[in-house]
Amino acid sequence: MINRLVIIGVGLIGSSLSLSLKKSNYVHTVVGCGRSEANLKKGIELGVLDEFSLSITEAIKGADVVIVAVPLGAMKAVFKQMQPALGSSTVITDVGSAKGSVIKDARENLGDEFSNFVPGHPIAGSENSGVEAGFASLYQGRKIILTPEKETATEAVDVIEKMWRQTGAKVEIMSGSHHDRVLAATSHLPHMLAFSLVSHLSKMSDQDEIFNYAAGGFRDFTRIASSDPVMWRDICLANGDALLELISGFKLELDEIARAIENQNPDALFDLFRDSKHTRDQLRDL
Ligand code: NAP
Repeated sequence: MINRLVIIGVGLIGSSLSLSLKKSNYVHTVVGCGRSEANLKKGIELGVLDEFSLSITEAIKGADVVIVAVPLGAMKAVFKQMQPALGSSTVITDVGSAKGSVIKDARENLGDEFSNFVPGHPIAGSENSGVEAGFASLYQGRKIILTPEKETATEAVDVIEKMWRQTGAKVEIMSGSHHDRVLAATSHLPHMLAFSLVSHLSKMSDQDEIFNYAAGGFRDFTRIASSDPVMWRDICLANGDALLELISGFKLELDEIARAIENQNPDALFDLFRDSKHTRDQLRDL
């Protein structure tokens, strides 16, 4: 059980974790910290938080576990502010969607306490943001990836692993660089495709007519284009190298379809669609 859990950045991811741990009585006190008093008060009202502070140094006093759940671009400043007030027995983790940049920010700013930092990423979420979007079952049956570094204390990994298991999630361990390559392909590129499709169609002169006739396929494919722009701006910048490589590869794939259409090549189109359908059909449990 965790006695005092501090969440820095009380939005969808942090509040869902709190609600889940509270439901199973795995946490005694949850302290929220953020920039907006209104958001933190809402957290108290919704039963997400027991206490809050607008000051990071105040909030983390006596913490057993600190979860940093702010957008990637804000991680560095948060680590910097935390460092002087960190106790040597406090375990720190994060939930950022890219790991290389967070590990670098933590290593450069947490000092000796870097060994108590366990980088993490829940493979769960939604296009909704904010404390009101949180729900207790978000992590049930989902994967949580932890990417400890060579300096990371095994006891710290153990604390964070147990915490996530309590939510019903499955914990997997891999390197930060492997995580960033895999997630660029399975999450970051698909978001780029959804954002760019909506952007492209919205610039067409008859966009009202087009969106009027949008059906299920369009809705399914573009749901994620409603995701938070700050979060996705930061993910693109943090995982740029892996993402650029995938965008180049994807452009070639699209060119191949264009070429097959230009050349009126039914076999090339059929083969590509058949192979993709076969691959997608194998993924029915997603
Ligand atoms: P969210 O709902 O927008 O919550 C983030 C919270 O962080 C906000 O409530 C905000 O609270 C605080 N914050 C925002 N900007 C900040 C800044 N510049 N400095 C300090 N605090 C700031 O976002 P989320 O979806 O929970 O995502 C949080 C983290 O989880 C991100 O790093 C994201 O990459 C990762 N993640 C998200 C998903 C997803 O599907 N949403 C999935 C997995 C991982 P205040 O306004 O009170 O400061």
